[in-house]
Formats: sequence, structure tokens, C-alpha cells
Amino acid sequence: MAITGDQRLLKRINRMALVRLVRSQPGLSRAELSVLTGLTKSTVSLLVQELIDESWLREDLVLVTGAIGRRPTPLRLDGRRLVMIGVELGVGNLCVVSMSLDGEVVASVQQSVSSPEHVDEVLETLAELIALQVQEQRAAGRELLGIGVGVPGAVMELTGVLAVAPNLGWRDVPLREALQAALARKGVTDLALFVQNDGDVAALGEVEFASTPVADPLLYIGLGIGVGSGLVVGGRLLLGGRGFAGEIGHIQQQADGPLCSCGRHGCAEAFFGLQAMANRLGCSIEMLETRAHAGEESARALLAEAGRHLGVLMHNLWTTLDPAVIVLGGPACRLGDAFLAPARACFGKLAHAAHLEIPPVVEARFGDLAVPAGAAALVLHKLLLPI
Ligand SMILES: [Zn+2]
Repeated sequence: MAITGDQRLLKRINRMALVRLVRSQPGLSRAELSVLTGLTKSTVSLLVQELIDESWLREDLVLVTGAIGRRPTPLRLDGRRLVMIGVELGVGNLCVVSMSLDGEVVASVQQSVSSPEHVDEVLETLAELIALQVQEQRAAGRELLGIGVGVPGAVMELTGVLAVAPNLGWRDVPLREALQAALARKGVTDLALFVQNDGDVAALGEVEFASTPVADPLLYIGLGIGVGSGLVVGGRLLLGGRGFAGEIGHIQQQADGPLCSCGRHGCAEAFFGLQAMANRLGCSIEMLETRAHAGEESARALLAEAGRHLGVLMHNLWTTLDPAVIVLGGPACRLGDAFLAPARACFGKLAHAAHLEIPPVVEARFGDLAVPAGAAALVLHKLLLPI
């Protein structure tokens, strides 16, 4: 019997359902997978063997319990051979990581970019960094599943076109196509390439590399030069009609407030974007961090006010979306409690006034690597959810 396209898709869905189950419940046996999926034992055995041969799953040691009869073999994700490449295309900074299936960073490289507004130059440098890492991983005997890229802007998922990235100064860039061409010039032609907003991929990084089920909906807030977010609902990203959902840096917090990079006044980013805060203190971003950690009074006062604006924003997003958890990530988290404590306090105060409890507010699992690790998670997300 010929295998039709539909049957192949069904097989992919079944295979990835098994991987997702083993990831969320490590130690499941083939028999348990059969019960949980409704697939026959023989189908499960066949698919599990394929997944073991391809290094998605591995068999764990069987515990000796003293019970009579053949003991079921526990299955786990195999973190040894398959890797995804994750990329952060940031403002003035490129970062490329290789991540194992179980969320270990196996390699990481950073490079600063002096002229982030020059699209072709940036993509050429990025392609070079990616190609080097592809070579290194293959030389180490690892197999690559694909490349994910996180960018600080709105991306049309279907076309891979970056509509607008205000902090990069990029608009209507066919990013996926252009990077694919740059990679081909470096000899990388055989890997799937996915491009998505940086907040969105960072949210996926919290979900796809978790070994236990994650609170859902999950709201990730990225705090850097730009302020962005990603929302995972029912295990999937909420992207909006044009890919613009979650551009929370440009939520209006005060009519006639300070001027923002987008041209509007009073945006969230104009109050607590890293560059905006440094500008108000008249220093560099590095100096802002130094002055905050030294406990300098003017820096502390500015960060306390900025933190309160973040608290108001978290409160407003929470009343709109009711997330089960809020994750904070990005370089501005390095400012620590001088910035984050007033934010939490303001959020809590607003909620308590309405006799409500706020959800957990936690820091990102991968810290400074939240975006590149999340971009690698985007590859996994696309593979694990074929439709
Ligand atoms: Zn703005």
C-alpha cells in the first residue's frame, strides 16, 4: 500500500506526541504511552524504536524492584546527539547558541555589531557565526534539527518578513529569505530556518525545555533597550493578526510622557527601556548598571520610578490576560532589586486593593540567554507541533 501524505503527517503527529509525553513525564514505558495515546502497543513499539534510533529518546536503566515478571523500560529524552541552533539578532549584539533536546547550552558565541542599521552587513556576520557553529557541532558528531532566530520586532510568521524593528531601524526586511541566502553563501543549505519575535521565542524557551508541565497561560516580559513580550496559551504562541501581538513596549502609560523611539510619547519603553533610563541619567547603559549597584541615590530614585511603571504595566497585562505565571527576562533584570522590587511592590499593591492575589513573577530560566535559547526552542516547537 502506498503511503499517502496524510499518513505521513499522521505518523509525524504520533511520533511527536510520544516525544512530548516522555518529555513531560520522564520514565514512561511503552505500555503507558500506549494507554495515554490510545495507539496500539505495536505502533508505539515501532515508533519508539525509530525515535531511539534517531536519538530523540533513550531507554533508562530498569530499577530492580523484586517484583516478578518483565519490568517495563523507562524512556527519557536523549540529550546527547540532537541539537538546535538558536540566534539572538539584537541591537548591536549577535548571539548564537547550540542547545540539546533537554535544554542544555552546549555551545555559545557572542559578537557585537558596530552598525546595526546595515542589514546586509549584519546578516553576513550572523551567517558566518552560524556556519561556524554548524561545522563545530557536526565535527563533534551532533545532528542539527534546524536554526531559530529571535529579533526585536514584529515578524510575519508565514513569510518570515520582519515588518518593523524600531530599535534596529529595520522595516519590511525579508529576513528569512535574506538570511537563508547568506547562509547558502557559507555552505549551509540543508537546515530549516525559523524567524520570530524575540519575546515570543523567549516565552517558548520557558515551555519547550521544561521537564515538568509549565503554568499556562505564560507571559514572558523582555526588559532591555526595547521592552517586549510573548504569550503562550494552550502550549501555542499568541501572535496576533500581523505578528504584532505583545509589542508592550509601546503601550501608552502617560499621555504627553517622554518621547519614545517609535515616535509616540509616554510609551512603557520610554520609562523603563534600558537606553531611555540611561539617557535620563545622562550616562551609558553600563554606567547605569554600575551606578545602580553602587547604590547611588539619583540612580536608585530613577530605577524606583521606572520600576513602578513596570509594576503598572504588569498589573494591566495581568487584568487583560490573566496569566498563570509572569516571567521577567532580558539585560535590565541585571539591575536587580533596585528596579524589580518596586515593580513587584506596585503590582502587588494594585492587586491587593482589589482583594486579589498576583500570580508568581519569576526570572527567566536561561537568564541572559533567554532569547537565543528561546530561538532554539522555536525549532523544537515547530517540530513537536507539526500542525
Ligand atoms: Zn513607543
